[in-house]
Amino acid sequence: LRAAARAPTQADPGPILGPEVTSTMSRIRLPAGFAGVDPPDVWPRSRSVPTSEVFARSVETLPGVGPTAKRRLARLGLHTVGDLVTHRPRRYEQPVPQRRISELFGDDEAVIQGAVRAASGYHRGRLHILTARVADGSGEIRATWFNQPWLEDKLLPGTRVRLRGRQNRHGFAVESYDLGETADTADFAPVYPASEDLSQKQLRGLVEAALASVSIGDPLPAEFRASEGLPLAADALVALHRPRSLEDAEEARRRLAFDELLTLQLALARRTAEREATFAEPLGSPGELLDRYRVALPFTLTAAQERAIGEIDADLARETPMQRLLQGDVGSGKTVVALYALLRAVEAGRQGALMAPTETLAEQHFLTIEGLCAELGVRVALLTSSVPAKEHALVRQLIESGDVQIAVGTHALIQRDVEFRDLAVAVVDEQHRFGVEQRSALVEGRSPHVLHMTATPIPRTLALTVYGDLSVSEIDEPPANRKPIVTASVTEERSSEAYERLRRHLADGRQAYVVCPLIEASETTVARAAEDEAERLRTGELKGFRVGCVHGRLRAVERRDLMARFKAGELDVLVATTVIEVGVDVPNATIMIVQEADRFGLAQLHQLRGRVGRGAEQSYCLLVSRALEELTDSARERLEAMVETTDGFEIAERDLEIRGEGHLAGARQSGLSDLRFAHLRKDRDLLERAREIAAVLGDEGLLAEAVDALLGGSEHLGES
Ligand code: ADP
Ligand code: MG
Repeated sequence: LRAAARAPTQADPGPILGPEVTSTMSRIRLPAGFAGVDPPDVWPRSRSVPTSEVFARSVETLPGVGPTAKRRLARLGLHTVGDLVTHRPRRYEQPVPQRRISELFGDDEAVIQGAVRAASGYHRGRLHILTARVADGSGEIRATWFNQPWLEDKLLPGTRVRLRGRQNRHGFAVESYDLGETADTADFAPVYPASEDLSQKQLRGLVEAALASVSIGDPLPAEFRASEGLPLAADALVALHRPRSLEDAEEARRRLAFDELLTLQLALARRTAEREATFAEPLGSPGELLDRYRVALPFTLTAAQERAIGEIDADLARETPMQRLLQGDVGSGKTVVALYALLRAVEAGRQGALMAPTETLAEQHFLTIEGLCAELGVRVALLTSSVPAKEHALVRQLIESGDVQIAVGTHALIQRDVEFRDLAVAVVDEQHRFGVEQRSALVEGRSPHVLHMTATPIPRTLALTVYGDLSVSEIDEPPANRKPIVTASVTEERSSEAYERLRRHLADGRQAYVVCPLIEASETTVARAAEDEAERLRTGELKGFRVGCVHGRLRAVERRDLMARFKAGELDVLVATTVIEVGVDVPNATIMIVQEADRFGLAQLHQLRGRVGRGAEQSYCLLVSRALEELTDSARERLEAMVETTDGFEIAERDLEIRGEGHLAGARQSGLSDLRFAHLRKDRDLLERAREIAAVLGDEGLLAEAVDALLGGSEHLGES
């Protein structure tokens, strides 16, 4: 591909993309007709206006679209001509045979063609019934329409009609019809997401009108189109709405999917290019502090951790800022790697920052690294918005003076009033929870090396799409002493057995979590429900044990105190809302009960489960729910997935299958949820190709043009 792509562009350095491409209009194949319908001669009309501009026009510029139609279209999310042209059909009508009237039999769906003899309508209650006698030379039939009184005037004697429908005892019940130019009865006629006040027929008419009003230049250079075996964009859009076969429609979808993926990849490539042009002070190679760190750790690093560290070291030695994603399942040991990166900054006489999405998580990180850092003589501070004002000001000052070497916090860290003296490495935990803005705010005006961590691993190919501007390191093996968590699904009736097992763990000196049901209510209500549940357990199933309760309504000091007591073994059980989802690290906690587990999402359950199994002991996760037969399919699939696997990558794949890719973590920020034509799993080949081509275009310095030229431009990529 590279060779093929380069040769022509190097020979001809002029713009290969843009309005000029509309000259390809002359080469556009005329859309072939549908069965029984002549191709319209009004399409396509050549215009010399760039596609993106025409696409951006309001639907009101189309003939016959006034304020009412505009409003109705807006309700379907269709605002522009481009929206209509790319409105994806939900499905296509099945092909049905065309028959002579005398040959109609049974109630099979069929198409007939003939002339109207006479038509008349009448009301029966609120129902309007229109009947027309239609003849085709072989016979005559009574066609019926419901609630379409306006049609009567159009069905004048002699009018040629094409009708799709079924015969019943009253006559031929019309499902769709064509008078003149329309193609609603055609095989594979598109069926759009429609609404009550905008019929399928009206939508089809509007899409046709939109198609007729635009000339579509091809943003994809011809050589790529050829090498990928993709049809012209213009052909694809026609085939999307008027395919001659389902294969036609699929070929069109793939072309449009390719454009979407390429647009996404170009935006990511542009981000990468911008970063490559930024300077970051290289940190050289690791020295004495890191040696002491390795010695201070109570365990040896796993091969996967060493590999990630090696990749980070290589990044830190470069003069461009590191942008690396560290993927690893919960409990795989990412924090140790993150601290390594932060200590590299400290060793270079500079600063590190560790950002977490929630205060709880920031506090947990702080607790985890504080001890080790003290041992190494490294000064760490916690900065969250619940740190009292005076202390907050002091910490800010120490960060500014450089006395604090590693700052841990929430996004309070990136607020304007926090000035690092010399930030060299930033670690962003659970990066998908940060908006793109926040991510770049940290980096703005400074160019630290950034390590993003996520415990919601996604398959590598997907990672390339979602975080395509990042390099990826994976910790794909847990520390050797880990036993996979045993997970069981338990019905509510048998939940007493679950608590019995939990009590046995407590009697052995272990600790436990009980996760409260997920209720959709205010944080205050959730907190109260958690408190009530803790109280119920204190006097019931967990009588005699020390039970604490954490939720989002606690003041930070209270929460910190509770966590610290649990960590120190002063509490046996932590009853909690999902605030414990991330970051809590108590290796002595070996069993977890999740109440009403069917209400939680799969990724969330997996995160929760990751709170146990963090030590050498065998750990358990008991998912309490209603009987499996009473659950929705997806709830049952989630629980089954949890029982069957503890592998986070596998869980991520399953989650994708159950929920669809739009829900993928990070999808929103990346523009992924706007993919209308692409299926990430089905179109992996296209995705790979799009990446390669984006890279070629990047190398050729043609990125900006390419992004502008692609269908829809980059508008749906948000900030990019
Ligand atoms: P993550 O952040 O990936 O969820 P952590 O870094 O919090 O995981 O590690 C989970 C637990 O495993 C911690 O208690 C940590 O001390 C321990 N751990 C990390 N690396 C190793 C290792 N190589 N060998 C043994 N235990 C480890
Ligand atoms: Mg962690």
